[in-house]
Amino acid sequence: MSSDKIVIGGAGGFIGGHLVAELLRKGHRNIRAVDIKPFTEWYQHFPEVENLQLDLQEKEACETSLKDAHTAYNLAADMGGMGFIELNKGLCMLSVLINTQMLMAAKKHGVQRFFYASSACVYNADKQRDPNVTALKEADAYPAMPEDGYGWEKLFSERMCRHFREDFGIHTRMARYHNVYGPHGTWEGGREKAPAAICRKVIQAKLSGKHEIEIWGDGKQTRSFMYIDDCLHGTQTILASDILEPINLGSSELVSINQLVDIVEQIAGIKLDRNYNLNAPKGVNGRNSDNTLINKYLGWEPCVRLRDGLEKTYGWIYDQMTKH
Ligand code: NAD
Repeated sequence: MSSDKIVIGGAGGFIGGHLVAELLRKGHRNIRAVDIKPFTEWYQHFPEVENLQLDLQEKEACETSLKDAHTAYNLAADMGGMGFIELNKGLCMLSVLINTQMLMAAKKHGVQRFFYASSACVYNADKQRDPNVTALKEADAYPAMPEDGYGWEKLFSERMCRHFREDFGIHTRMARYHNVYGPHGTWEGGREKAPAAICRKVIQAKLSGKHEIEIWGDGKQTRSFMYIDDCLHGTQTILASDILEPINLGSSELVSINQLVDIVEQIAGIKLDRNYNLNAPKGVNGRNSDNTLINKYLGWEPCVRLRDGLEKTYGWIYDQMTKH
């Protein structure tokens, strides 16, 4: 009898934790959740699934994790927001070991479906110099000039997934996530991304009464942000689909960082003085997701409005900050 076991690598992280929760909600019970972090540090931890603390850069750990597995999601990576990836290129590149060992173990154990979480950081930097962006389409990853470190690792791992499919018949699927945000993710400590960092700073200002905020860069850089619910739906749908090439999974609702701060200020009901730190890491000037392909293949694209997703994220971070 074939197994229906689903393995989630990086299950102690933001997206991995939500994915375990979602699979449980859908009635799956044969789930193995794996992460390098101690269980007490997982954002979400479900005793009803098999939980393993393992380093997925190790061959044996990947073999243990993928034994009897039907489906594998590789969401494990050493990563964070711009402040982390610009200063930790070597660590980011070492995540190549995770996907390599996961693919090798998937081959050994005959895993049927394998998902790889790639990133918009694979896109050629030349296409992202102008805040008035032309949205990035999948072909814009080549000729290759991705984000140094993190983006190169993602681009290489995408290709490895492709060749393991072509040469060894593993049904690999890849999504290029564009800035995912939501509750139960990193909001402090240096790895947080812009939506969580701005929520935290606005809440700090509100609680302290010191009505000012530091913004990285000039605030004119543009991005799109995808709420976690859209990410979960897209991830599972892409894995079940026949889409063989890496595909964008991101919102196309473009905002500048200043507009992102406007929205969070509205949610908080305050107005802050803005200080721009032009020396802080700020990433590319502009980036948006061209959703032509995902619409064509799935008849769907991420659709949660930024304002709606941010309200939930703000509320959760507020609770974290005030419960101590
Ligand atoms: P996260 O940092 O919250 O989760 C990643 C998890 O991987 C962490 O819990 C970490 O402990 C674990 N991990 C790291 N090294 C490991 C190892 N050697 N063995 C086992 N576990 C290990 O990040 P996330 O936001 O949930 O991202 C999930 C995936 O999506 C990552 O591959 C990331 O690069 C990709 N991605 C995320 C975003 C985003 O905006 N969140 C955007 C693009 C791509």
